[in-house]
This record gives sequence, structure tokens and C-alpha cells, in this order.
Amino acid sequence: MKSNKAVVKVMHQPKREEEDLAPLFHELLEKLGEDPSREGLVRTPERVSTAMKFLTSGYNADIKKLVNGALYEVKYDEMVVVKDIEFFSLCEHHMLPFFGKMHVAYLPKSRVIGLSKIPRIVDAFARRLQIQERLTQQVAQTIQEIIDPVGVGVICEARHFCMMMRGVEKQHSGAMTSAMLGAFRDRKDTRDEFLSLVNYRSM
Ligand SMILES: [Zn+2]
Repeated sequence: MKSNKAVVKVMHQPKREEEDLAPLFHELLEKLGEDPSREGLVRTPERVSTAMKFLTSGYNADIKKLVNGALYEVKYDEMVVVKDIEFFSLCEHHMLPFFGKMHVAYLPKSRVIGLSKIPRIVDAFARRLQIQERLTQQVAQTIQEIIDPVGVGVICEARHFCMMMRGVEKQHSGAMTSAMLGAFRDRKDTRDEFLSLVNYRSM
């Protein structure tokens, strides 16, 4: 069997201190040439601080707590697929949003996870500064660690504001990434079943 490449540590993330970011955004407004005291901007630093904390709240996510017992021992060995999981993230190069859909599948060995937990795992990693490739890999790796299935497949399609709003301005270009572990990496029929379930041609 081939080994799963790009193993990333996903279960233990450093916890961050809760800081008031408002003074930083106040200063940023000034440096951008704005007047932070004008009416529309008075509370903006506070609002941006709150928004940024939410958009990066994944750093505080405790995956074990989040899964919280929603693991079930069952005799089920068919593929489980959760399609079209919407996510919103921030690219770590520009701190601009990228967003799209993720399709997650796994082939259980003896354990399944509550279906609603999968979008929550996606959010826990999307709400950080990310690159799409790592986000995809982390979701796959986490499912692998938690459920210990025969294999995991994740496909991610996203559009990046840093491409849409600046530089190349390719407003309709999207990026696709995938992470295939275990049977999804080693067995073409498993991978093909996943791809057909999410309507993609084999890669
Ligand atoms: Zn970017």
C-alpha cells in the first residue's frame, strides 16, 4: 500500500489569547488615509475586530469537543458522502476571502460520524488563515484520525477574491483541490465512485 503523503498535524492547535484588535484597525484606517473619527467609521475598528475574530475562530476550535461523542460503531461498509458543504475562508497570502464548496467522503471500517459534524469540521479549518490545498488536506486528515476509516476523499472547489479583485482579475476562475487517503488513493474504483457521486470525471 502506498503511504498517505502530506501528513499534517491537525488535532493539536495552539490556543490564542483573546486580544482587542480594534486599536490596530483604528491605526490601519489612518494609515490608509482615512479619518477614523468620521461618523461611518467610528465603530468600524470594533466591528472589524469582532468580524476577524469570528472569521479566524477556527484557531480555538477543539476538534475532539466538537465531535463530542457523535461517533457510532456500526456494521456499514458503503461509502458515506456529504456533498456541497459551503465554506468561507481567508487566504493567508492576502487575508482576502476565498469561498466555495467541499465534498467529503469516507469508507467506514467499523465507525461512522454524525453527518452534521462534517460541516463543523470544515468550518473549524476554514475559519483560519488558509491556503486551499492545506484546508483540503486538513479536513481529510482529521476525518482519517477521528474515524479511522478505510479511506477518505475530499474535493474542494473555490473562488479567491485575491484573484477576482486584484492582479489578474479573472473573475470567473476557480481552483480545485483534492485529498485522497487510503482506499481513495489506492483504489481507482473507490475514487471513481466518489467522483461520480459528486459528478466529477476521474482525474
Ligand atoms: Zn490570496
